[in-house]
Amino acid sequence: MDDVVDVTILGAGPSGLSAAYYVGHRDGTVRIVESLEQIGGQVAATYPEKHVYDVAGFPKILGQKLVDLCAEQGLQYGADVRLGEEAKSLERMNENGDELLALTTDKGNTYLSRAMIITAGHGAFEPRKLGVDGIDEWLDRGLHYVVREKAQFAGKRIVIVGGGDSALDWTLGLQDTAALPITLVHRRDKFRALESSLNEARKLEAEVNVRILTPHEVREVHGDGSIEAVSIEHTGTGELERYDCEALITLLGFVSHLGSIADWGLELEGKRQIRIDPMSCETSLPGVYAAGDVAGYPGKITLITVGMGEAAIAANNAIARIRGEKVQPKYSTD
Ligand SMILES: Cc1cc2nc3c(=O)[nH]c(=O)nc-3n(C[C@H](O)[C@H](O)[C@H](O)COP(=O)(O)OP(=O)(O)OC[C@H]3O[C@@H](n4cnc5c(N)ncnc54)[C@H](O)[C@@H]3O)c2cc1C
Repeated sequence: MDDVVDVTILGAGPSGLSAAYYVGHRDGTVRIVESLEQIGGQVAATYPEKHVYDVAGFPKILGQKLVDLCAEQGLQYGADVRLGEEAKSLERMNENGDELLALTTDKGNTYLSRAMIITAGHGAFEPRKLGVDGIDEWLDRGLHYVVREKAQFAGKRIVIVGGGDSALDWTLGLQDTAALPITLVHRRDKFRALESSLNEARKLEAEVNVRILTPHEVREVHGDGSIEAVSIEHTGTGELERYDCEALITLLGFVSHLGSIADWGLELEGKRQIRIDPMSCETSLPGVYAAGDVAGYPGKITLITVGMGEAAIAANNAIARIRGEKVQPKYSTD
């Protein structure tokens, strides 16, 4: 059991970071629990390099830059941030007359708070995986779902799987680190990535620094303890070829699921959203609020700017409930 905070925020996307700002601004204490190892929600996970044009105050801003600024603003009051932990169960308990919420995560940690704001987007993100039996057993033994440090690929023969921007970015970005050629595998002939990145990769292919295999799929992983080779199939001809490889990097995007949150007894709006009262952003469970993509009501629009507005409503209502006060905004200007 950890220290009691005023508000647990579940999810560190733009809505969660905005909620953290507002609770901190009202002098409340915050703990953020996020299933990914990074903050920034969908924006950082799926479109960090794309421009966003419709957030008030920013005529044009890169996704990653936007969430970096949200984090700078949201974490300035010293929120306790717990990354890589997925919220699993929620219980209500009484401690010295105080009614508390107890959130337990997949790491077995239990976090106590007086209120909660769920800003879980489409649910907990996890990397989309290769359809190879037992693939997860290779994790940390040559299989990677993200590139954290280039140095860990130094001098290694690598196979990158994917057809989007991340796959192309790392095919180019690891040229100065990995053994060449880097093999890029995509199941279709057409890539989704930026044309300029693809052109650069084609140029490197002509120089034998990149090997592009399409339409191909990784079918088998071989190794004794760690990955030593992979078998890749040409899906047009069915021909299977074995390639030496010490690092297999699969960059296939993310999948999300509301998961155990759906079993907490919250009234849902459809299958993927938690029903809230838009006046207060409170859910059907007292003291539990929701904001952003996960929060539903008739007419809801899932946009960053809407989530930020709901985060402000949720945070101000949560603070008012905890303190037994009337809900009122406090301006931030000094
Ligand atoms: C390609 C693309 C382009 C987009 N472009 C725009 C745009 O131009 N303008 C715009 O306004 N919107 C855009 N959107 C939508 C926008 O990204 C979302 O509205 C916004 O990210 C919602 O923010 P959020 O904080 O509510 O949820 P999210 O960003 O989804 O963050 C939720 C976080 O909660 C975490 N989480 C979920 N469940 C758990 C759990 N059980 N335990 C722990 N953590 C959990 C998730 O891992 C995630 O990090 C776009 C979306 C996509 C996919």
